[in-house]
Amino acid sequence: MENAINRVLVLGGGQLGLMMAEAGARLGLVVDRYDPERAVLLPGTSDLPVPITWEECLQRYPVITVEREAFPDTGLSARLADSERCVARGALAVIPDRFDQKSMLDWLGIASAPWRTLERAEDLSAAMAEFSGVVVKARSGGYDGRGTWIVGDGGRLDAVPATELAGRAIIEKKIPFRRELSIVGARSTRGETLFYPLTRNWHVDGILRLSLAPANACVALQPRAEGILRRIMEELDYAGVMAVEFFEVDGELLVNEIAPRVHNSGHWTHEGADWSQFDLHVHALAGVPLHSLNVHGPSAMVNLIGTPFDQAWLQHPGVVHWYGKSVRPGRKVGHANLTAGTLEGLRNGLRAWADVLPEGFEAVLDSELGL
Ligand code: ATP
Ligand code: MG
Repeated sequence: MENAINRVLVLGGGQLGLMMAEAGARLGLVVDRYDPERAVLLPGTSDLPVPITWEECLQRYPVITVEREAFPDTGLSARLADSERCVARGALAVIPDRFDQKSMLDWLGIASAPWRTLERAEDLSAAMAEFSGVVVKARSGGYDGRGTWIVGDGGRLDAVPATELAGRAIIEKKIPFRRELSIVGARSTRGETLFYPLTRNWHVDGILRLSLAPANACVALQPRAEGILRRIMEELDYAGVMAVEFFEVDGELLVNEIAPRVHNSGHWTHEGADWSQFDLHVHALAGVPLHSLNVHGPSAMVNLIGTPFDQAWLQHPGVVHWYGKSVRPGRKVGHANLTAGTLEGLRNGLRAWADVLPEGFEAVLDSELGL
């Protein structure tokens, strides 16, 4: 395929970059990865490390993208992230610090959970009195619920290390949401945008366990969600795939957080849509004209967390994606994607996965079915 750009460098050596490399190969685009922890290049989907210098990066890669928000300051990783070739440069200046991210949303007039800064330990009790339930979030470095403390109305604040967090955290109102949703979409280097349907996400203890798409009960919110993500991508002059997580409260969307990268809640697109979020990401970066997106009926993504590979999964309905990482409690080590003709069919398929899903997953399906 003829493209202006046929080489992309991903900053990060994890599974998201690996899936980008695989997608790139389908259209003849070379996607190599730079592992900042080991300061080496990993060509394509290979794990054979190659040392690389800044000069070589400049020669080989006209476009640099990222698969996460935070990097160790190895010199080269900081330079790559700050390079004019890095399409996430604007996003990396704002998103990793929740204070900057929330300030940007306020400034853009995009609704999110009301919030305060945690400057002194006393700010916590004041916010509790104001909000009747708080969520304390470290300004940077949190993920999968780590760095987050949820204290409901009447709950005890002593579990929050407020003195330690002073000056380094924000306090949000605990939102009594009905659903958690996300939108995944892309903006190309030509400024075109394209979006997947809203996805319903079920988090337990701060970690994503199940995604369902399209989020049928919320189709009316699609234009609003697209408008929010488009506005953020334009503001940050971003190219590639980005995701926004939302709380749905009384039919309104509140932004929870922004992820300037392909997103766990978009993994269903591998089998659930004709172009996956990884395809879309590399196409947007390579300047391939953005195309149509067909979704193949109700889809689900089940995260495989802290569990060894089980060969019995291969007999279950769906497709297993395994990341080949060492298994640790709470670590995302793979996911399974299911697609069915109807939500009832999806429910039957998901029952086979009940042993890796927390109790209560059928209630999430019920609420999508409007039961
Ligand atoms: P990720 O792994 O997606 O980056 P994270 O750990 O950085 O997540 P959040 O997405 O901000 O942090 O929070 C994790 C989960 O905690 C949310 O998906 C939601 O279930 C809950 N949560 C976060 N903020 C609030 C809030 N203000 N009100 C109610 N629940 C919240
Ligand atoms: Mg989140």
